[in-house]
Amino acid sequence: MAHRETHRFDRIGWLRAAVLGANDGLVSTASLVVGVAAASASHSGILVAGIAGLVAGAMSMAAGEYVSVSSQSDTEKADLARERDELANMPEAEVAELRNIYIKRGVSPDVAETVARQMMEHDALGAHARDELGISEITAAKPIQAAITSAATFSAGAAIPLAVAALAPLSFTVPAVFGSALAGLAILGVMGAKTGGAPVTRSVVRVIFWGILAMAITAGVGKLFGVAV
Ligand SMILES: [Zn+2]
Repeated sequence: MAHRETHRFDRIGWLRAAVLGANDGLVSTASLVVGVAAASASHSGILVAGIAGLVAGAMSMAAGEYVSVSSQSDTEKADLARERDELANMPEAEVAELRNIYIKRGVSPDVAETVARQMMEHDALGAHARDELGISEITAAKPIQAAITSAATFSAGAAIPLAVAALAPLSFTVPAVFGSALAGLAILGVMGAKTGGAPVTRSVVRVIFWGILAMAITAGVGKLFGVAV
């Protein structure tokens, strides 16, 4: 019977990114709405600020993710090209390199030599990519997909406080957005923990703590400016 895989790297990649994106959208938009509402703005003023925050945040997430994933992808491609070159031009040096990596990890020299040769016979570039460069298919970067996922999940998270602000009466905006944001964060905390196989309580407490802190600070700033202006 096959060993059941309990590490969830394959799912963690995009699900973790999705939960983090929604988390960002929820916290930043809820904080923005609470801050503007605390400054005693009009209902339409609160909504305009919230929508602008959603669009700006989604674009900034997409741009940031695209740039960071593309540069990671460029680096990986360049590393692989150089490795392919070295394998073609100095195969013996490359065997020694892989052998030394396994020795450092605790394998005895003669076994390390055998393993290095057998792995390179099977798939030389793959062996060097994994064990020397730390590149696997899991980290193979997809910039466009990452950018779209971040923007979409950020918007999904941001839509919650925005919808609540649109529906709640003006005098009730702050507590309604605050409460719904905490509920949303708790759900995301549970999802994040479940997908990563991490302890649920700790994960939920962590996201709620940062959510409360973010909203309390912007509410405070909003109140200050609301009074000053
Ligand atoms: Zn190498």
